[in-house]
Amino acid sequence: MKKMLIMGPPGAGKGTQAEKIIEYYGIPHISTGDMFRAAISNKTEVGLIAKKYIDAGNLVPDEVTVGIVKERLSNPDCKNGFLLDGFPRDLKQAEMFSDMLKELDIKLDLVLNIHVDSEKLINRIIGRRICPNCGRTYHITYNKPLKEGICDECGSTLIQRKDDNVETVKNRLDVYAQKTEPLINYYKDLVYNVDGDRDVDVIFNDIKKVIGD
Ligand code: ADP
Ligand code: ADP
Ligand code: ZN
Repeated sequence: MKKMLIMGPPGAGKGTQAEKIIEYYGIPHISTGDMFRAAISNKTEVGLIAKKYIDAGNLVPDEVTVGIVKERLSNPDCKNGFLLDGFPRDLKQAEMFSDMLKELDIKLDLVLNIHVDSEKLINRIIGRRICPNCGRTYHITYNKPLKEGICDECGSTLIQRKDDNVETVKNRLDVYAQKTEPLINYYKDLVYNVDGDRDVDVIFNDIKKVIGD
């Protein structure tokens, strides 16, 4: 199975597609954002450091981020493929990631790049709700749970991420445009561009075609 990155601006649908990809292909989803949110709710040392950066929509320092990714990728469950989401987020991280891959003897196969216009991203982010228990993502209009405010999967009460507010979102979109978007060129030989402004299942079918069986 493939070793992949999923990229795209905040709100593009990376987490939503990742949920489908990992279920279909049975590979681990490695999301730096999810790992940081878990660390914050467990009040670990990493969580305490990461919180102030995340709440402001800024990048968490590399020494923290690169460390958690390396530890996770060293786990044997990544041997047969993985989907990395939210990392790398700037050129420095991409270079550190290349070194890490060499050290762990891993070859990256594919970079999925989801594109959505920025005006649409703000609505997606502001309307996003997540399950604090199982991590599933919903949207108050585009992707409603069966029962308002309740996770279909596990029955927990949905919450809004603290960084999903208008002020922080603008900064996150700027950080993406300045620091992360240039990575599409860095990975140009591996990139598959996905139009993210379509139905969730239509996008997933497109992605399945490029990943293969
Ligand atoms: P990311 O992980 O890229 O930040 P998410 O997967 O969390 O993005 O999606 C952001 C929000 O947009 C969520 O509320 C999600 O339910 C919604 N969403 C995801 N994909 C689509 C889509 N194709 N059309 C409409 N809304 C979507
Ligand atoms: P989204 O897909 O909506 O941008 P993520 O869950 O990927 O959100 O990330 C949330 C926040 O976690 C980011 O705004 C940033 O503060 C932090 N973060 C996640 N991944 C990284 C990373 N690779 N480097 C630095 N900070 C990160
Ligand atoms: Zn749930």
